[in-house]
Amino acid sequence: MKIRIADIVDDSIVDGPGLRFVVFVQGCTHNCKGCHNPDTHDINGGKIVDTDYILEKFYENPLLDGITLSGGEPFLQTTPLSVIARDIKEKGFNVIVYTGFTWEKLMEYKEKYYELLKYTDILIDGPFDENLKSYDLMFRGSGNQRAIDVFKSLSENKVVLYDF
Ligand code: SF4
Repeated sequence: MKIRIADIVDDSIVDGPGLRFVVFVQGCTHNCKGCHNPDTHDINGGKIVDTDYILEKFYENPLLDGITLSGGEPFLQTTPLSVIARDIKEKGFNVIVYTGFTWEKLMEYKEKYYELLKYTDILIDGPFDENLKSYDLMFRGSGNQRAIDVFKSLSENKVVLYDF
């Protein structure tokens, strides 16, 4: 399945716990002031690759702990990302997704987004807020963003924060 991406980073230690493979998807409509990845906004930019290509690249590195799906806005490409996340989850790795949507907004369209959420371990939610920017937040850019335990939050039907 085709997916539009901005870039791939083979081994990151700043996009979640452990050693991570990071996919920066292309396309975002949130327009957060002070965004660090403005080149990822154009929904017609970046490049189109196959999900199999990303999976092949991921499995080349036996040291990885999991994958991080960032952007851009991952929930604009829920279906191809769910293909990637499912395969990686089934093989025992973990999945982190960064989104500019809040958890509450995603829950308004739960049926649409569940196909990716069901394979997501941790969701970093909410737009980047320049006024709440901090370097002291673990794996987050601004204080409004939350690290959410997706399985527990879906099970309990409320936001349960992830304890790193
Ligand atoms: S959601 Fe992320 S990529 Fe999109 S504008 Fe906000 S910070 Fe930038």
